[in-house]
Amino acid sequence: MSRSCIFCRIARKELPTELMHEDDQCIAFRDVNPQAPVHWLIVPKRHVERLHDLTEADRALLGHLALTARAMAERAGVAESGYRLVVNNGDDGGQTVPHLHLHLLGGRAMRWPPG
Ligand code: 5GP
Ligand code: ZN
Repeated sequence: MSRSCIFCRIARKELPTELMHEDDQCIAFRDVNPQAPVHWLIVPKRHVERLHDLTEADRALLGHLALTARAMAERAGVAESGYRLVVNNGDDGGQTVPHLHLHLLGGRAMRWPPG
């Protein structure tokens, strides 16, 4: 846990955010600045800065986050139409919040390659 980290604060319920999901390892909520009709974030409760900080010991956590994203895609109604999962890592990856999160994007056709 990090005292000032925005996603740690959401996980601690210090910032009013409607949680779409919560379990012992992670939370999911809507992105405040959505880039698609469905734009949810899946966030571990543990303060991990970047995907690149994960180790072999986090294999189960990463699986849990991916399967939670899958469940959220069902919940959001985009399982059949398709969706994109994104993890931005570090500066060149476009990461702005230094607490690991998966973006679940759907509800419109995504472009490739990203800009
Ligand atoms: P990143 O650029 O780090 O991959 O993504 C961070 C995301 O977090 C951005 O899409 C941004 O809109 C979202 N975000 C930042 N602060 C908040 C917040 O306080 N609440 C919510 N719901 N989303 C946030
Ligand atoms: Zn944090």
